[in-house]
Amino acid sequence: MSAWTDDRIPIVVAPLPGEALESWIGAYARRLRITSSGFLSLAGLHGSRTRPMALRLLPSEAAALERSTGVPLPTLASMTLEPYDEFAVSFFPGQRRLSRPVAWRFSGSRNRYCPACLAEQDGRGPVFWRLPWAFACLQHQCLLLDFCPACHRFPNHWKARRLGPSGTSSCTLNSSRGRTGPKQPCGYRLDEASALRLPGDGLALATQRHISDLLGKDHAARPAALAEFKQLYALAWRILRGLHTVLGLAPEVVHTALAECGGRLPEVHAREVGHDAHNVAVGTALALIALHPGHAEHESLFDWILKADHSLVQKQKFTIGLMAARWEWSGPELVERVLGRLDREATLHARLRYASATPQPRWPALNAALCDNLR
Ligand SMILES: [Zn+2]
Ligand SMILES: [Zn+2]
Repeated sequence: MSAWTDDRIPIVVAPLPGEALESWIGAYARRLRITSSGFLSLAGLHGSRTRPMALRLLPSEAAALERSTGVPLPTLASMTLEPYDEFAVSFFPGQRRLSRPVAWRFSGSRNRYCPACLAEQDGRGPVFWRLPWAFACLQHQCLLLDFCPACHRFPNHWKARRLGPSGTSSCTLNSSRGRTGPKQPCGYRLDEASALRLPGDGLALATQRHISDLLGKDHAARPAALAEFKQLYALAWRILRGLHTVLGLAPEVVHTALAECGGRLPEVHAREVGHDAHNVAVGTALALIALHPGHAEHESLFDWILKADHSLVQKQKFTIGLMAARWEWSGPELVERVLGRLDREATLHARLRYASATPQPRWPALNAALCDNLR
């Protein structure tokens, strides 16, 4: 905290370590018994909205918050998604609107939550819950929740509203029942929602630990971490699709991961996978095993993923070029591994073209149109 000045709000509410900006603003507002927008007015930001600020602070907004609360600028920035730009999330250049992130359709304009964390922290929570790769609470060893169990929408529980609800962890979305009369918040106590317990020594929590390490990498190490995120997503996407096409051929570890995560199949849609915490947990836990050596089923799982991928193009004419091109987005390492595996099914012509029988299969330049069709 900086030195006290006349602009400072006389009551201090310090951010929790790793707290999301929206959570802190809501907590500050409740401490002052005003609304979130009332707090922003008090901080000299009359007319500003919390939602866009929670993504990325404008310099004027950050300065006003620092001046009125004493929280340093770097701390304020760390409570937004700004530090994760072009890494775990993607902003449109020069804007604070989010585009589709590198992996998973989870824009970061909403957040997942852990009921036990909400209960312990008086409804407050970390910015980590806004990242597409956040699927488990390491402290409480459970799967994060995506929706309010009562109204089945993404919750917005950090907002301090004039008309309540009074509980700090309550769903603040307007209930559909209020359409004809005064607006009523849903009010469900999210800290009382039930979350799936994950085994402490299981695959999902080990994976979330690994992912959290990657998310914490400094700027010098980020290109390698980003490359791994792309590889994990490319594998996870095929795993999640494969669960619905070639589950009967899956190695044992696939069933282990499914059982750990509640025993139900993650949902997929027409040509897409689901992007909730359950999908991310199952897909990423298995992707990590297939990506890094060490697990007894590391190789058999990768072979099954190729079968899953093959099953998605079965109506098309199979070629080694087509299959390899489907992996191009994930980078050369996986393409080379795929080419090495596909060698058994390749024609002589393809083997010569891609050198797939050599220790270092290579990837000839594809024409751009073909790449676009296969991404
Ligand atoms: Zn928790
Ligand atoms: Zn609700």
